[in-house]
Amino acid sequence: MSASRTVLVINSGSSSIKYQLVDPDAGTARASGLVERIGESAGHIEHRNDGEVTERHDRVTDHGDGLRQVLELFQEVGPDLAEAGIVAVGHRVVQGGRQFAGPALVDDDVVATIERLSPLAPLHNPANLRGIQVGRTLLPDVPHVVVFDTAFFQGLPEDAATYALDREVAEKYSVRRYGAHGTSHQYVSAQVSEMLGRDDLRQIVLHLGNGASASAVVGGRAVDTSMGLTPLEGLVMGTRTGDIDPATVFHLARNAGMSIDEVDDLFNKRSGLKGLTGENDLRQVHRLIEEGDAAAKLGLGVYTHRLRKYVGAYAAVMGGLDALTFTAGVGENDAVVRAGAVAGLGFLGIELDPEKNAARSKEPRVISTDGSRVTVLVVPTNEELAIARQAMSLL
Ligand code: AMP
Repeated sequence: MSASRTVLVINSGSSSIKYQLVDPDAGTARASGLVERIGESAGHIEHRNDGEVTERHDRVTDHGDGLRQVLELFQEVGPDLAEAGIVAVGHRVVQGGRQFAGPALVDDDVVATIERLSPLAPLHNPANLRGIQVGRTLLPDVPHVVVFDTAFFQGLPEDAATYALDREVAEKYSVRRYGAHGTSHQYVSAQVSEMLGRDDLRQIVLHLGNGASASAVVGGRAVDTSMGLTPLEGLVMGTRTGDIDPATVFHLARNAGMSIDEVDDLFNKRSGLKGLTGENDLRQVHRLIEEGDAAAKLGLGVYTHRLRKYVGAYAAVMGGLDALTFTAGVGENDAVVRAGAVAGLGFLGIELDPEKNAARSKEPRVISTDGSRVTVLVVPTNEELAIARQAMSLL
């Protein structure tokens, strides 16, 4: 095989590890896979090499064991890591606080800082750290780089990043808008600039996956984003509320006797589309609507209403709009949501071409009419490639 350069990208979650061996120059994945159910009685590993899928169902005791088994799979079914020319390992980290505005080379100080930021992302940073620690142990001879979900939003204007909260409390407890999904928003907005051949665009990116977020980007710099202190704020998501009156927490605590942990669970895991319709996957929501389910119809209505509201707000924040882009699982695949998100926004200069919107494709594409003042696009996101390229840019 070729002696090309590759980056092993690792996304370590609380009980899972996703990985991809990326060729950052070609922009392709040489291999990818997923370790699931770490610590449970039976684990699951799925390894893909050249379209060939290998599965294992052995117990995976911890993250170290998981990564060790993945390295074995690379050796058994390929691609051979010794020949793959790994120049770096890129780790996704959710919360970089105010400390990281870009990727960072991992050393003990960086590890300690990520650990210190864990209270701001208690579900994510500790899990990300486990991946970094076992990665450094098992692959000690290559540089490890961390890429933060929050980094793209570090430069947000203070007016957009500051909550109207008592300043002392906010300062002491680091309460501000950090955003999330930044790697995706940065990658997609850069793709759009390249496609349209302009670096002065006023853009809105709608990252609509199971988690969902919007960003406003001017000339390649983020000026606002919908996720806040945590990824709970903003758009309606698969299982999260997005924006909700904070007093709902007091109301439920006082009147339903709910604890903080119960409200946390309710808002993060049992709300959003799931709470409204019983399903967090939009494909199922559409199926229910076809069957005449009124709750599902309302759920989709709430979802697209929130999207239109953010598009209008961000157009106002930027004083105009040149490009609006849909990405991630829903954004890339769901023509009904895309149409709903811009319905009635002709006054902003947004005119969708129904045929282009309905066409299915895996390629970046324009879905607005030729005469539309705002270019509307679908651009598949690729966070692994973005992480690999950011890691390379540091070396
Ligand atoms: P992601 O988090 O980017 O992987 O997106 C996952 C979500 O994308 C799922 O929960 C679905 O709601 C949505 N999705 C995936 N494929 C489709 C599709 N063909 N049509 C509509 N929604 C889809």
